[in-house]
Amino acid sequence: MSLDEKVNAIEQVFEKLDAEISQFQGWSGLHCKWGCGKCCFKPDIEATILEFLPFANWLYHTEKAFEWLERLTQTDESICLILNPTQAGAGLCTEYKHRGLICRLFGFSARTTKHGSKELVTCEIIKTEQAELYTKAAAHVEQEKESVPVMHNYYMQLHAIDYELTRDFYPINQAIQKAIETVLAYYAYRTK
Ligand code: SF4
Repeated sequence: MSLDEKVNAIEQVFEKLDAEISQFQGWSGLHCKWGCGKCCFKPDIEATILEFLPFANWLYHTEKAFEWLERLTQTDESICLILNPTQAGAGLCTEYKHRGLICRLFGFSARTTKHGSKELVTCEIIKTEQAELYTKAAAHVEQEKESVPVMHNYYMQLHAIDYELTRDFYPINQAIQKAIETVLAYYAYRTK
């Protein structure tokens, strides 16, 4: 698979997920708090290289890859470098269109418990500020009365695109850095 084919395949998975999340938000009424972005401040967010390949490929084609690589290699910051704490608007992500799979899943997806049932995964702000809606949604998810994106299913879809670039999880800034290095190596090889 060429790099462009992989990026297209990843973006199709993201489009399908975004549609499933909209459907979930539609029936549950759950939503992010305007301007929040609190989940992005978590210092231990982990991601795969593949989920940031679309972002890295876009950086390459907009001639920003080396600038970002320099920022990422010179920081030991664990909080995502894409985050802008002072950004106005719905959230604090400066590259929302290119955010990773973990970013899309968090707040509006379910994990499968060891008993095989689904458990809604969301943030404390939603659980407390939208408590009634949350309790109802969590019950519907567990009883499989309504559909919800399942984390494992989406990681499996990325695995199917490229196993090597989804096998390991890295701290988010390292995952982004490795995605950029992967794209630069790909094109460097092709321009020899
Ligand atoms: S990529 Fe965007 S949504 Fe994901 S952690 Fe970084 S700032 Fe948050």
